Amino acid sequence: MDKYTYTIKDANLSNDSFFDYIEKVRQLNEFITEKRGEAYRFYTETFGCQQNENDTERICGMFLMMGFKQASVKDEADIILFNTCAVREHAEQRVFGKVGALVHLKRSNPELKICLCGCMVQQKHIEEKLSTYKYIDLIFGTAAIGRFPENIYRLFTEGGKVIDTDEHKDPVPECVKPLRKDGLKAYVTIMNGCNNFCSYCVVPYVRGREKSRPVADIKREFESLVSSGYKDITLLGQNVNSYGKDLAEGYDFADILNELNKIEGDFRIRFMTSHPKDATEKLFRTIAACDKVCKHIHLPFQSGSDRILKLMNRRYTSADYIGLVEKARQLIPVVTFTSDVIVGFPTETEEDFLDTLKLIKNVGFNGLFTFIYSPRKNTPAAVMEGQIDKETKGDRMSRLLEFQNAIVWDGNKSFLGKTVKVLAEGPSPAAENIFVGRTDTNIIVNFTGTPDCVGKFVDVEITKALNWALFGTQKD
Ligand code: SAH
Ligand code: SF4
Repeated sequence: MDKYTYTIKDANLSNDSFFDYIEKVRQLNEFITEKRGEAYRFYTETFGCQQNENDTERICGMFLMMGFKQASVKDEADIILFNTCAVREHAEQRVFGKVGALVHLKRSNPELKICLCGCMVQQKHIEEKLSTYKYIDLIFGTAAIGRFPENIYRLFTEGGKVIDTDEHKDPVPECVKPLRKDGLKAYVTIMNGCNNFCSYCVVPYVRGREKSRPVADIKREFESLVSSGYKDITLLGQNVNSYGKDLAEGYDFADILNELNKIEGDFRIRFMTSHPKDATEKLFRTIAACDKVCKHIHLPFQSGSDRILKLMNRRYTSADYIGLVEKARQLIPVVTFTSDVIVGFPTETEEDFLDTLKLIKNVGFNGLFTFIYSPRKNTPAAVMEGQIDKETKGDRMSRLLEFQNAIVWDGNKSFLGKTVKVLAEGPSPAAENIFVGRTDTNIIVNFTGTPDCVGKFVDVEITKALNWALFGTQKD
């Protein structure tokens, strides 16, 4: 650490100090406004998953509570914050690239504050590397979001670099209102962290153990979103199916769906991500019985080879997975599946890869998030023998994409001539009178409609089906 570095590790803050710091920074912004006519302006960018998006929304909510104003472009900001992702090396390289590109802004405005937070900086080796970058002012990890006001206060009053990657978690108080970009779709985090330790994954190391949010808090936030007009609300967690195991409230994830489904109003409930090992018949029956719960399950399978699944520590076989999908299809009349899949995991043979293709064919997914295995420091898979070369990984990825495209095509064709309920999200940039929305099974629909359809649920008759979307006309 150099002389610019100031760390607040081991700081033990209570919630009282949260509001004290909010108030102190708000006064600072009042003073700045008096001096220069406007408060400090913030700009944020988020990398990675929906949970990071939701964390950024809460960070923005705290910025507003502290009297900051939002800047629409980086160049106008006094403070720039990147919320980072560590799941793959590619995500980290993007952040390094973007951070490097800020140097010129800092040169032209030495007062500019640059902040990095999230999963990437929670890794020791990255924190150490970034702490040597003189132009980065604040680094804080996933457990420190509740200490954001304190860290911002120190950043602006004490000078020097502030680093807080302490694993002690101070929760963000419930009164912090996330600043949401969209007026129709919203995320609600129902749990944080992960206990599964899949051998390739860095998430449990950077987000800590599973912690469920109390039912009453989830319900309160959900109800307020519904009454504000939100129509498509996604419940978030690394493994929503294990919700509640750490609480004494006696609610599991299916019970949460049931509770939220009882709320009056015109809205949809989505959720992600479900781990196959914790998906139960009770969950499928609940999805079927709850009219507001979307009939779409994001159920990552990762590999179709039992040998690789075991090495990945996923705790199910490909037959278990297919059995689950069959059970869900039996209990929920129309349900779609999307999934995550990794190619090129250590020791993956051509035969293992073909097992993955076989599973994809067997299930028929509506969408796949495809990943090339990326070794992550300190995870067991990174040091396994038999790492796969770049060329083989690339080749398998191209073959997998080609294979999947052909299958999605078939799946979407089954909607031809049918009428589906669509939440109209907005106009299509493609042509006038064309709107874009989604079915509850999460399929994109482009349709000819009336301008007043936006923000409403409408019936659309499907006249064309392509591999990535459906096309149709709004019915009267
Ligand atoms: N909790 C979720 C997803 C977390 S990360 C779940 O378990 O499903 C999102 C996806 O990134 C994972 O499902 C996996 O497919 C992919 N992923 C995670 N670590 C990876 C790695 N080291 N290399 C490539 N893909 C990875
Ligand atoms: Fe990572 Fe596995 Fe946890 Fe998902 S369930 S976050 S893949 S360790």
